[in-house]
Amino acid sequence: MSALSQLYEEIAVCKRCELAKYRTKAVPGEGPEDAEIMFIGEAPGWHEDQQGRPFVGSAGQYLDQLIASIGLRRQEVYITNIIKSRPSGNRDPLPSEIQACRKWLDRQIELIRPKMIVTLGRYSMALFFPGKSIGKIHGTAQKQDNIIYYAMYHPAAALHQQSLRHAIEEDMLKIPSLLNQAKSITEEKQQPKQLNMFED
Ligand code: URA
Repeated sequence: MSALSQLYEEIAVCKRCELAKYRTKAVPGEGPEDAEIMFIGEAPGWHEDQQGRPFVGSAGQYLDQLIASIGLRRQEVYITNIIKSRPSGNRDPLPSEIQACRKWLDRQIELIRPKMIVTLGRYSMALFFPGKSIGKIHGTAQKQDNIIYYAMYHPAAALHQQSLRHAIEEDMLKIPSLLNQAKSITEEKQQPKQLNMFED
């Protein structure tokens, strides 16, 4: 069994927070173990809780379309959430729940070692861009320890608000060139390059 499958088994029986009592299924995440891009959403909703898979409701269908807009299929990227169990009534996750679940996300990042982490929405952004506002930093990226961190709006928010929809679609289209720049940096370790589109 791979380390990632083993991790999924541990998440399936996790009782680190109260959400464990109410979930139908834990939703660890899915995608190839060697995915270059990892999308991190907020928490499972009703459909995700039923199926044990991330982003399978209407926000998920929209995320699939966004992924297709850059020539990729859902099966080629890794998709997960900061919280692995559904908060009842789809309420916002509590700081204690985010804290309790953090170890699973950290382990996923460690095992998959993505080149790029795309945060979807405010909660996911706050983990990697503390103190920043999504309205200001969406569509910008930072590189740290060889991973590009890139903030986007949440697809569920963008589905219902035309201005955000435009922004999320534009932001998605920047991903391939950011990824290419990151690749060339990794290959040319001797000559560090200044990346454009990146914030310090
Ligand atoms: N919204 C999320 O943030 N994650 C899901 O898996 C589904 C909807």
